[in-house]
Amino acid sequence: MLSTVPVEQQYERIGDGPRILVVGAGIAGITAAQLLRRSGLRPVLIERGHDRGHPGYMLALMPMVDPVLDELAVREPYRAASVPLNRYGLFGHTGRRIRTDSMASILDQYGDYRGIGRGELIEVLSGDDCGVTSKTTVTGLTETAEAVTVTLAAAAGTAELEFDLVIICDGIHSATRELVLPADRVGTVDTGWAGWVIWLPADQDQDLGDELWGAGFFLGAYPVAGRIGAIVGGPTADLAVGPPAFVAGIRRKLRRVSPRLDRVLDALATDPDPYYWPLTDCRADRWTTGRTVLLGDAGAGFLPTAGIGAGMAMESAWVLARMITRGTDVPLPDLLAAYERAQRTRVEAAQDNSRALARMMFRRSRLLAAVRDVAARLLSVQAVLGPIQRLLADAPDPDRVLDNLSATVRHR
Ligand SMILES: Cc1cc2nc3c(=O)[nH]c(=O)nc-3n(C[C@H](O)[C@H](O)[C@H](O)COP(=O)(O)OP(=O)(O)OC[C@H]3O[C@@H](n4cnc5c(N)ncnc54)[C@H](O)[C@@H]3O)c2cc1C
Repeated sequence: MLSTVPVEQQYERIGDGPRILVVGAGIAGITAAQLLRRSGLRPVLIERGHDRGHPGYMLALMPMVDPVLDELAVREPYRAASVPLNRYGLFGHTGRRIRTDSMASILDQYGDYRGIGRGELIEVLSGDDCGVTSKTTVTGLTETAEAVTVTLAAAAGTAELEFDLVIICDGIHSATRELVLPADRVGTVDTGWAGWVIWLPADQDQDLGDELWGAGFFLGAYPVAGRIGAIVGGPTADLAVGPPAFVAGIRRKLRRVSPRLDRVLDALATDPDPYYWPLTDCRADRWTTGRTVLLGDAGAGFLPTAGIGAGMAMESAWVLARMITRGTDVPLPDLLAAYERAQRTRVEAAQDNSRALARMMFRRSRLLAAVRDVAARLLSVQAVLGPIQRLLADAPDPDRVLDNLSATVRHR
């Protein structure tokens, strides 16, 4: 459970330990802070606001999160708050079901593949208690070889505090990143598409995720515990007509519609305020300075197409936390540089996969959509999941990275 703690109190609790600031209590930030806390460190965690005001969205979590959940001792609460995603169904551009595949038969060998609401995942990761200073941001950051001086801004005023390390995890539109990295070092893919997220009641197929790849639109329905999160998207310019008119346009293009996707369309057409997501990503070409590090979407923000951004954010948080707690004999700049070398290639490979899927999914042309339907019938899910399976099979090994690093540092 998240509990609000004044920043002075968090700072005092650090005691003699390393002074670590974690910016952003999202998926990466809470994972990193809680892992460090379990190792006896006392990082200060701050958050700009509370997500609780909006209904959040659904996440499919790949098996790379399992070791993270085990180390946080929250695997059981996670399983209780999520559902297994055993099957994946794909519909073609006119609404005809193209295929239904067993995800379990491919992913079970690596661990769990489950659906969970973002709010529920935050609760699970927070465990019994996760202290955070809310409504606080970073407005200034000055780094020297010895420390980072951070200006923290809250409604009550500003405070300047000194830290040894700042972990920046304030998401895809990270404002803190702008304080350490010039804007031209952060690339963006703007698909020109966006989507509305809505929620539906659970149905009898709670282990089945469905997607429909249309011509000029897409639909996705992903079960989580007790409900189904859905997204309906299209080119940003076309969404300007608003949900009811956009839904009417989709219905005109579909020759048939499954009962579940029919409910998705009805839910969007009647939702007074569906959550709107522009489908853009970001990629920083550098994650670390001597004493700051970008983590999660702040370093590589994902398009949701492959459903792997949160998984990679949690994996990276685990690798980083492990290296910080076990690498105390290594100078911090070397440690962070080694972390970036180890993890950035993996994360960018996963991000490339999301980008490739977006190029396939986000198409206007009916002809291309028809060709894609044929290809989708022929391609095996095994092949489509190939890049993700390679990441899962080749799990990160922060202990080995640290051993190599310690040896290098000793021989200097
Ligand atoms: C619609 C949608 C569906 C998705 N589906 C999946 C999926 O199925 N599977 C999957 O693995 N991933 C999915 N993702 C991607 C996943 O949500 C992200 O990759 C993940 O949330 C990244 O975690 P993060 O902690 O880096 O960022 P976030 O979770 O976005 O957290 C950032 C936190 O920082 C806070 N913050 C922002 N600015 C500041 C500031 N200046 N100061 C302090 N705090 C700040 C925010 O309030 C937030 O709490 C999806 C994303 C979307 C949008």
